[in-house]
Amino acid sequence: SPVLLWLRQDLRLRDQPALIAAAEQGPVIPVYVLDDETPGEWRMGGAQRWWLHGSLSRLSEALEARGSRLILRRGPAVSVLQNLLAETGASRVHAIRHYEPWWRDAEAKLGEALCLHEGNHLRRPDSVTTGCGGAYRVFSAFWRALEQSLPPAGPLPMPATIASPDAWPVSDTLEDWALLPHAPDWATGFDWQAGEDAADIAARAFTDKVSQYENARNLPAEQGTSRLSPHLHFGEISPATLWHMIGPAPEALKFHKELAWRDFTSGLVAAMPDYAERAGRPAMDTLPWRTGASAQADLRAWQRGMTGYPIVDAGMRQLWTTGWMHNRVRMLTASFLVKHLLIDWREGERWFWDTLVDADYGNNAVNWQWVAGTGIDANMFSRIMAPLSQSEKFDADDYIRRWVPELAGIADPAIHDPDAHGVRPSAYPAKIIGHREARERALAANRRR
Ligand code: FAD
Repeated sequence: SPVLLWLRQDLRLRDQPALIAAAEQGPVIPVYVLDDETPGEWRMGGAQRWWLHGSLSRLSEALEARGSRLILRRGPAVSVLQNLLAETGASRVHAIRHYEPWWRDAEAKLGEALCLHEGNHLRRPDSVTTGCGGAYRVFSAFWRALEQSLPPAGPLPMPATIASPDAWPVSDTLEDWALLPHAPDWATGFDWQAGEDAADIAARAFTDKVSQYENARNLPAEQGTSRLSPHLHFGEISPATLWHMIGPAPEALKFHKELAWRDFTSGLVAAMPDYAERAGRPAMDTLPWRTGASAQADLRAWQRGMTGYPIVDAGMRQLWTTGWMHNRVRMLTASFLVKHLLIDWREGERWFWDTLVDADYGNNAVNWQWVAGTGIDANMFSRIMAPLSQSEKFDADDYIRRWVPELAGIADPAIHDPDAHGVRPSAYPAKIIGHREARERALAANRRR
C-alpha cells in the first residue's frame, strides 16, 4: 500500500529523510495541507503565503520531473490526513518533526500513523538541554552544548526513484488557494526566487562571502548576510546541507553560530510553547504599555515607516517592499517600537508575522522578547538602543537613501538625523518623539511595573 509524505516547512527533495523513508516503504503520495485553522492566530501571514506559492510551484515541478506529484489539500491537517489515509488505503504518514506548538499537537493527534524524522535542525533542538533536562535560557550556553555534536551528519542523497500509487487522489490547484496577494508584490522589492534550486544557488553564492560575514553582517547598506532566511524557514535547504556547503573554516564560525540560533529558538518554543504570547519573565507582563488612539497612531507610523527616525523608517519600508529586513535594523526597529513608543512587543511581532517572508514562530518570538527585554534570558528592558547613533556607527546612509527616497539628497552625517541638522524636507515627518524624552518615559514605565 502507498504511504503519505506530509510536507510542511521542509519543501525540498534533497536531504529529506521523510521522503527517503517513505520511498523505501512503497509508492509515495506527497501532500501539502494548507491549514488555516490549526495554527489559530498564527496562521500564515501575507508575505509567507506569497513565498509559499512559489515554493509549492517549484516543488510540484520537481516531483513531476521525477514522475511523481504534489497533492494539495486544504483544511485542518489532522482530519485532512486521516481522510487521505482512508481514501488511499495508505498505511503511514512520514514527516519531518516541527516545533511550532500547533504542529506538535497535530503530530500527537496523528499518533501511531505518523512516523517522524529529524532533518530541519543541526541537532534535534529539544535534545540540547541543561544538566537538569531543561531548555537553555541563553544562546551562549546552548551553543557550547550543541557544539559537542557538530558538524551535523552529511546531507542524504535524493532517492533514486519515487514510486507512484496506482491511482492519485484528487488535488486542489495552487490557483484555488489564491496565495498571491494583490499588493504588495515582494518580488519587485528584491529579486526573490523561491524553491529548492534557488536556495541552492543562493547558498553557493554566499560561500564566497562567508569570510567577510563577521564584519559585513552588521552593515545594512551591504549585502553581507546570506538572505537565506525564507529558504531556511520553508526548509528549501536543510541546515546540514548549508553547513557542509559552507565548510568548517574558522572564519565560518560566526555564520555557523547564527545558523544555530534557529535551533536555539526551536528548543525554547518546544519548552515554552506560548513564548510568542507571554513574557518569558512573567513580571514583564505588568509593564504599562501605551494603548488608545495616540498609541494606535504611533503604531501605524511605525508600520508605515513614518516615525521621523530615518534608520527606523528605512527598515520598515524595506520590510514592506521586500518582505525582509536586515538583522541589525530588525533590532533597531523592534527596540524603537517597544522602548521609544512603549508599545507592547506583541504588536510588532504580529506585524512582522504578516510582513516577513521568513516569518518563523520561534525565531520571531525569541528575537522580539530578546530585544524587548521581556524574555527568559537576562536581557534588561532598561537597555535602550540609540537609533540615531547606531545609524551612524553602522554606516546606514546609503541604506537610508535607498529606502527613504525623500532623504536621498541629504549628505552624511545629516541624513541620520535631518531634524537636528535643520535639513528635514517637508515631505518627511518630524521625529515622533525625542530620543531623551522617549528614554525617560520607558525607564519610568519600567519602574512602575
Ligand atoms: P544570516 O545572517 O545570513 O544568517 C543565516 C541564518 O541563520 C538566517 O537565515 C536564519 O535562519 C539564522 N539566523 C540568523 N540570525 C538569527 C537570529 N537572531 N535568530 C534566529 N535565527 C537566526 N529570523 C527569521 O528567520 N524569522 C523571523 O521571523 C525573525 N524575526 C526576527 C525579529 C526580530 C525583532 C529580530 C531582531 C530578528 C528576527 N529574526 C528572524 C532573526 C534575523 O534577523 C534573521 O534570521 C536574519 O536577518 C535573516 O537574514 P539572513 O538570512 O541574511 O541571515
